[in-house]
Amino acid sequence: MGWGVRAMQDIPQGTFICEYVGEIITDAEADKRENDSFLFTLDNKVKEVHCIDARLFGNIGRFINHLCEPNLLAVRVFTMHQDLRFPRIAFFSSRSIKAGDHIGFNYGDHYWRVKSKYFSCQCGSVKCRHSASCREKADEEGTPMKNDASWSLSI
Ligand SMILES: [Zn+2]
Repeated sequence: MGWGVRAMQDIPQGTFICEYVGEIITDAEADKRENDSFLFTLDNKVKEVHCIDARLFGNIGRFINHLCEPNLLAVRVFTMHQDLRFPRIAFFSSRSIKAGDHIGFNYGDHYWRVKSKYFSCQCGSVKCRHSASCREKADEEGTPMKNDASWSLSI
């Protein structure tokens, strides 16, 4: 297990938690980087995809794990400009969170399609969709994962 983030106090629904901060790089540059552990893809309809790489420059946002039952929502925010390629990513609580709870957001199926070869989800939820046993089941049934949610959400 790697790093994770827990709430230090009760957090009401709709609270701003933190921003996902890092280096903004092109998709092509992201493909070249060997360590993709801290990449957040900024999908958009304009094409020309960029990523935020928090490996070398970042904040606490980089330690937030995936949860199959997430309590955070990643929201695109535009403050100084309206360039759709470069939203700032802000996390808000999507439900009330108790002190001590693990906090996380849904990394999306694209992430798990790539990563499930190397590890499986450890969220521990009964609704976990990316655990080792889920994967075996999906392989047996030969059904691709549905719900192609993207990493980030548009507002
Ligand atoms: Zn899970």
